[in-house]
Amino acid sequence: MIKATLVPILQDNYAWLLRDEESGCTAIVDPAEVDPVVAAIDAAGGKLDLILLTHHHGDHIAGTDAIRARYGAKVVGAKADAHRLPKLDREVSEGSEVDLGASTARVFETPGHTRGHISYYFADGHVLLCGDTLFSLGCGRLLEGTAAEMHKSLVRFAALPAETLVCCGHEYTESNARFALHADPGNTDLQAYAERVKQQRAAGLPTLPSLLADELACNPFLRATDVATLADLRSRKDSFR
Ligand code: ZN
Ligand code: FE
Repeated sequence: MIKATLVPILQDNYAWLLRDEESGCTAIVDPAEVDPVVAAIDAAGGKLDLILLTHHHGDHIAGTDAIRARYGAKVVGAKADAHRLPKLDREVSEGSEVDLGASTARVFETPGHTRGHISYYFADGHVLLCGDTLFSLGCGRLLEGTAAEMHKSLVRFAALPAETLVCCGHEYTESNARFALHADPGNTDLQAYAERVKQQRAAGLPTLPSLLADELACNPFLRATDVATLADLRSRKDSFR
C-alpha cells in the first residue's frame, strides 16, 4: 500500500514522497529542489529507492542528479524524452510497470502539457502522480501537445476509481477555482469545493492531494465531454484574469 506525502518546493510546486508501507521502500516524484526534499526523505528514514519523473521541465527535474548522488536512488522517466531528462536508469513508456517494494505503478503516457509527459498510477493506495497534466480544478497548459491529446489523457484519468488521490505538481487550486466558477457558475459541488479550498489556503494548508471524485464533479477540464469543449476552455483560461 502506497502512502503519498507532499513536499512543498520552489514557489508553488509539490514533490511527492511515496512510501510502500509493507517494505518501507520510498520514492520521490519530481524533486526539483534539493534541501526540502532531503529534509523530507531524512525525516522518513533517510533511504530513497526511486526517483520518478513526470516530464522534463526544470521545476520538476532540477534536483534529480543531486538527490540521486546523495541516496543512490534509481531514476525513472519517459523513454520518449530521455534526451531532455536527467540520465535515466530506467526508461519507461505506456504500460510499463514500476515496482516500489510490494506495490506497482502503471505508467500512462499522458501528453498535452508536454509531448513526453507520463503519469504513474499505484492501484494499491489509489495514488495518481500526474505532474502538470491534471491539476485540481484545472489542467496543464498545452505547451507542446494538442487539445485532442490532453482530452485523451484526461479521459484516462476520469476512468480511474473515484477514490483516487490526485497528486499533481502545483498548488494552483485557488486560482483555478476562479476560472472554474466563471466557466461553470451553476455547479453547486464546485461552489462548495471552492469555498473549502479558500479556507484551506487562508489557513496556509495545501489543497492536495484532491479526490478524483471531487475533480469529476467540479473540474471543468475533466468534465469536458469532447475535444472542442476542452480546447475552448483551455484557450479561455489562458487569457483569463
Ligand atoms: Zn511543466
Ligand atoms: Fe510545472
